[in-house]
Amino acid sequence: MSISLWQDSQKRTNSSAQSFDVVVIGAGIAGISTAYWLLREDAGLKIALVEKGEIGDGATGRNAGFITCGSVEHFNRLLEKHGEKEALEIWRFSEKNLSLLEEHIIGDDHANLQFEKKGSFSLASTEVEFNELKNSYKLMTELGIDVEVLELEDIETRLQAKGFLGGIKYVGDASIHPMKLIEKINALNLKDDNFTLLENSEVFDIEQAGENKIVRTKKGALETPIVIMATNGYSPLLHDFFKDKIYPTRGQILATEPVERFMEGPCYANFVLDYFRQLPSGELVIGGFRQLQKDAEIGYSDETSDVIQEALEAFLVKHVPKVKDAKITHRWSGIMGFSVDGQPMVGAIPTDQQIYFLGGFTAHGLGLAFHSAKCLVDVLFDREIPSFISAKRF
Ligand SMILES: Cc1cc2nc3c(=O)[nH]c(=O)nc-3n(C[C@H](O)[C@H](O)[C@H](O)COP(=O)(O)OP(=O)(O)OC[C@H]3O[C@@H](n4cnc5c(N)ncnc54)[C@H](O)[C@@H]3O)c2cc1C
Repeated sequence: MSISLWQDSQKRTNSSAQSFDVVVIGAGIAGISTAYWLLREDAGLKIALVEKGEIGDGATGRNAGFITCGSVEHFNRLLEKHGEKEALEIWRFSEKNLSLLEEHIIGDDHANLQFEKKGSFSLASTEVEFNELKNSYKLMTELGIDVEVLELEDIETRLQAKGFLGGIKYVGDASIHPMKLIEKINALNLKDDNFTLLENSEVFDIEQAGENKIVRTKKGALETPIVIMATNGYSPLLHDFFKDKIYPTRGQILATEPVERFMEGPCYANFVLDYFRQLPSGELVIGGFRQLQKDAEIGYSDETSDVIQEALEAFLVKHVPKVKDAKITHRWSGIMGFSVDGQPMVGAIPTDQQIYFLGGFTAHGLGLAFHSAKCLVDVLFDREIPSFISAKRF
C-alpha cells in the first residue's frame, strides 16, 4: 500500500525505534522459516518478524497445499534450459526442502497438519504433452528420480479423473494444510525469547540511519543492522530492485464441500498450469487457468474473476465428474511472486548489503521456501549456497 505525505509525517515523527539484530519483513512460509533457521544458529540474535496483516495473509495462507519437487515446467524442459547437472540439482533441492520440513517441523504430526506423502501426478490431455511426460519419465529414471508412468486406465481407476491420455507420478511428493504448517513453525519460533512477532505492522519505508537501518512500520519504527525482505510478490512495492525481477501474479482457487475420498494423490494438468487435489477431509480444491486472463492476473488485487472461476467449474465437470454435483463452498485468490527464470532468488541487494531477501518462488513456495530460508541464513553466515538460487545470477 502507498503512504500519503500526511500519514508519513505523522508516522515518522511519533515513534522511538525498538532495536533488533535482524528484522524480517513478511510472515509467510519464507519469513517464518527464515526466523526459524536464524534462531537455530544459537547466535543470540534478537529477531523481529514484521507482518502487515496476520501470519499467512499472503500467498502462504491461500495456496493449494502441494509440496512438490522440481519447478514450474516438465523435467524435459528444465533439463533443456539448465543442463543435466543443474536440473538434477534443482530437483534434489526441493526434495531436501521436504525432508527438512519432515525432520524439523512435521515429524509424526501428520493428522494434525493434514500431511500426506502420496506422490503427485502430472496429467496430459494431449498427445504432445503426454510425449513430453514420457520423455521426462525416461530422463528422470536415468538420473535416479523416482517416477512412474500412468496410462489412461490407471488415471481412471486411481484418480477417477476423465479426459486425460496419460501422465506421470512423482513418487516423493506430498501435500499439507499450509496454515497449520506455518502456525506450527511460528509456535516453535515464539518459544524463543529472542523472537518477536509484530503483526498488523505494515512496513512503508526502510531508511539508512548511520550504520543501521530504520524500518518504518505503521505501528512504529525498528532499528537494525540487517533487514530481510520475505515479501515475495509484494517486494516491488517496497524496493525498486525487484521491479524487473519479481512479478506479482494472481492465482485463483475454488473448493467444494467434502465428498467420500476417491483420489490417490494431488494432480497437475495442462503443463503445470492447472491443479486439483482432494483433501484428507474430502473437499476438492482446484486452481489455475490464469492463462485465460494473462493481463488481469498480474498485479496486487486479490479478487476472483468470473472468467477463471467459470473455467475452474467447467474443468471439474469435464475432468473430475465425481464432484460435479458437489456444492462450491469457497472461492479465493492470492498473489504469488514469479521470478524471471522461474527459480527462487536468495541474497542481498547488490547496492545495499544490509538488505537481504528471498522470494520469486513462482507458485512453488511450499516446495522451496523452507530450504531457501536455510540458504539465506547460510548467506548471512558466509556459507556457500547453490548458484541457481543465488541472487548473484542477476
Ligand atoms: C492460489 C495459489 C495456489 C498456490 N498453490 C501452491 C501449491 O500448491 N504449492 C506451492 O508450493 N505453492 C503454491 N502457491 C505459491 C505459494 O503460496 C507461494 O510460493 C508461497 O506462499 C510464497 O511464500 P512467501 O512467504 O514468500 O510469500 P507470502 O506468503 O505472500 O508472504 C509474504 C508476506 O509479506 C507480507 N507483506 C507484504 N508487504 C509487506 C509490508 N510492506 N510490510 C509487512 N508485511 C508485508 C504479506 O502480507 C505476506 O504475508 C500458490 C499460490 C497461490 C496464490
